[in-house]
Amino acid sequence: MRDMNQDSGELYAYRKAGKIASLVRTKVAQLTRPGVPIIKICEETENMIRKMGGFPAFPTNVSVDYVTAHYTSPPNDETTIPEDGLVKVDLGASISGYLSDTAVTVDLSGKEIAMVDTAEKALRAAMSIIKAGINVGQVGKAISDTIVSAGFKPISNLGGHSLARYELHSGTSIPNVLTHSGQVMREGGVYAVEPFVTKADGKGYVKDTDSAYIFSCTDSMPPASPKDNPEAELLTVLKKRFGILPFCLRWLGSDFNLKQFKRLIRSGSVISYPVLVEAGKRIVAQAEHTVLVKKYGCDVLTT
Ligand code: MN
Ligand code: MN
Repeated sequence: MRDMNQDSGELYAYRKAGKIASLVRTKVAQLTRPGVPIIKICEETENMIRKMGGFPAFPTNVSVDYVTAHYTSPPNDETTIPEDGLVKVDLGASISGYLSDTAVTVDLSGKEIAMVDTAEKALRAAMSIIKAGINVGQVGKAISDTIVSAGFKPISNLGGHSLARYELHSGTSIPNVLTHSGQVMREGGVYAVEPFVTKADGKGYVKDTDSAYIFSCTDSMPPASPKDNPEAELLTVLKKRFGILPFCLRWLGSDFNLKQFKRLIRSGSVISYPVLVEAGKRIVAQAEHTVLVKKYGCDVLTT
C-alpha cells in the first residue's frame, strides 16, 4: 500500500470516517440505558453514521457482560439492556471504503469503573508507544502490562488489526499480550487497537457460541452463471452490496430467502462470526480507537 501522507484523498476519507465514528460513540452513553432494546442502539448508531454521510463499516456490536464481541441484533430482536449491565458498543464508519472502528464500555452498575478505566488506560499506553516500525508484540506487552498491574486480565485471543480499503481485518494483528509474530506497524498504515479486559479470575480468552448474527462474503469469485442458481444470485447481490465487509440480517430486509442464505454459509461462500464469550463467563470491558501510524508516533482518528 502507498504511503498515505502522499495521498490526501485517502487520508481525508479516513479522517472523516474516524470523526463520524467518534461523534456517534459520544452519543452511545445516553442511548445505553437499562431496559432499552439492543436493536434500538444498533439501529440508531447505524442511522447516525448514515446521516453524517458514511456507511456503517460493520453492524454495531452491543455485547453485554461476559459476551465479549460480535453480538448485533437479529431482525425483531427483543433483547434489552439489563439493569446492571457492562455494555460494550463497538461501531465504525466507511467513507468510500476507508474505515474506522471504535468502541466504548458503558458501566450501568457503577461498580466496574476500575475495569473500564483499565481498558482505556491500556489503550492509551499502546497509543503512546505506537510509531512506524514498532513490533506489534511490544504493543501487546504495553497493553497486557497495564491490565495486569491494575489487577485484571487481558483477553489474549482477541485484539486489534490493520485496516485497508473495504477490508476491516487486513492482515496484521495487534495483540493484547506479548507475542512474537514479528509483524511491525507501518508508517502511513491505519490500525484499530482494542484492549479487552476481564477479571483476574476469568480465563482470559474468548470462545465461540452457537449463535452468529454477523456475516461476510468470502473473497472467492461468485459462480459464473447466477441465472439458473438462486443461491449464486443471492451471493452476487450480497457481494455487490457489501464486498467482503461484515453485514447482518437486519440490513437485508425481508427480500431474501433464509434457506438460500444458510446454504451459502454451509458452502463456505458466506462466513458467519459466532458471538464470542469470555471462557470463564467473567465480565469484559473494551476500549478501541483507530490510529494512523506516523514516523515518530500516531494520530488517533477516532477522537
Ligand atoms: Mn471494533
Ligand atoms: Mn476492531
